[in-house]
Amino acid sequence: MVLKKGNTSPLIDRPLLNVQQVREDFPVLAREVNGQPLVYLDNAASAQKPRQVVERLSRYYALEHANIHRGVHFLSQEATSAYEAARATVAKFINAAEPRECIFTRGTTEALNLVASSWGGANLQAGDEVLITQMEHHANIVPWQLLEQSHGIKLVVAPIDERGQLIVEEWEKLLSPRTKLVAFCHASNALGTINPAKALIKKAHERGIPVLLDGAQSSAHFKIDVQELDCDWFALSGHKLFGPTGIGVLYGKADLLNAMPPYQGGGDMIEKVSFSGTTFRHIPERFEAGTPHIAGAIGLAAAMDYIESIGHKPIEAQERDLLHYATERMREIEGLKIYGEAENKVAVISFDIPGIHPNDIGTMLDADGIAVRTGHHCTMPLWERFGLTGTTRASFAFYNTRGEIDSFVESLTKIKRMFLGA
Ligand SMILES: *Cc1c(COP(=O)(O)O)cnc(C)c1O
Repeated sequence: MVLKKGNTSPLIDRPLLNVQQVREDFPVLAREVNGQPLVYLDNAASAQKPRQVVERLSRYYALEHANIHRGVHFLSQEATSAYEAARATVAKFINAAEPRECIFTRGTTEALNLVASSWGGANLQAGDEVLITQMEHHANIVPWQLLEQSHGIKLVVAPIDERGQLIVEEWEKLLSPRTKLVAFCHASNALGTINPAKALIKKAHERGIPVLLDGAQSSAHFKIDVQELDCDWFALSGHKLFGPTGIGVLYGKADLLNAMPPYQGGGDMIEKVSFSGTTFRHIPERFEAGTPHIAGAIGLAAAMDYIESIGHKPIEAQERDLLHYATERMREIEGLKIYGEAENKVAVISFDIPGIHPNDIGTMLDADGIAVRTGHHCTMPLWERFGLTGTTRASFAFYNTRGEIDSFVESLTKIKRMFLGA
């Protein structure tokens, strides 16, 4: 979703999303918490699940379950078809050229570790550099630090500005003949910043450097087209995309993936096993050792179908409205400082009220039934950049409303008065 000045025509900004109707698909949104209607503003940590996903999972487990591949019986073949159909749905959702380019993983974290361990382990040597940014999630920092320890590579970090935007000129200066991989988040979970991925990928490719995109946030907020981006790998998590936990995707270009060594060994990923040597299958099976999360893949496809049924345009318009509205209303609270004021943002707002600890803000909001996240949001080095240890973060999905933002701001105002007076 793109936050652009001057694009405020209500007709352009707010097409076609009937929020009240959409909310009925999410049973949890009707709950009360601490005697108040739940206001769920922790979507960047994990999004809620529509009935369509829950019912699909339930039907699979109740009626359709068997282990996939290798089975000659009816249920196994049916489950195999559903699992492979889910892969095709994923491919369509991110516009991959072929389903086999979509590997099911446990989530973004495992997808990033897969690339670091398999591609990194085989292709990186002492002195080689991996370029990331200051706004990365720990999942896009620590796997590279493990390679620093095991392979002697060097992790290079590009700086961001006060508004939480990557300083592209500085990033570009850090691309050197030693740079063997570029990795960055498509959208930041902590700041909301959308990085100019397509332009960065082009600059890296001009120097022959492959690019890994962390799409855990971006995929939940706007349409992804991996062919248009031309990224070499793209990682996403089902649970942030209104789907099940424990399932995610690593997209990779077919030739690149097929040239990578296996990540884990076991059943399903082999061609032939003998004690004198084993040969491996091609993608996607090469990277899916063992019984996969069959239900998770099927549930993720149901979530993607659900998003497509609403449409990316109405979702983006609704979230753009929520981001604008919440930003404006929060700015009414004197002393409150928003971290992350990039021109292009997803609907994530990190903030600090000097004098009140984020944990106190989070606890007090919870007493009013409002769920936010407090702390470092798995981006500790980012907060170091701003001289903080963490923030409070409100993050929105298309099922949130302006009315919920009003409740949130009212509660914040009350908390501030309690702690700081007036
Ligand atoms: C959540 C998140 C991750 C990690 O995703 P998991 O689902 O926990 O594996 C990585 N990067 C970003 C930007 C995230 O928001």
